[in-house]
Amino acid sequence: MNRQLLRIARHRIAEGDLPDGRHARAYGGSSRGGNCALCGERIEVRTSDIELVCSGDDGERTITLMHPVCHAAWLTVARSQETKRRVPVLPLAIAPA
Ligand SMILES: [Zn+2]
Repeated sequence: MNRQLLRIARHRIAEGDLPDGRHARAYGGSSRGGNCALCGERIEVRTSDIELVCSGDDGERTITLMHPVCHAAWLTVARSQETKRRVPVLPLAIAPA
């Protein structure tokens, strides 16, 4: 696991820039373009990306895009925090084509 990505994930979750894993569901698919919410780099069109759909306590849904490797770093950090809270992270689901 890329240590720099883990460090960024920890920092951005702590700052509230990224979701902490609660009420989050991840969908893998083909990118329509956009910037990765973790590393900030562009996600090229038609490469793989992960859409993280989160429902806030107020019911508002947010969609966060990440590279698969960045999502893996985010998931590692979110799961370590979930373990402390003893609430499981929802598993990765594949969006229908
Ligand atoms: Zn990224």
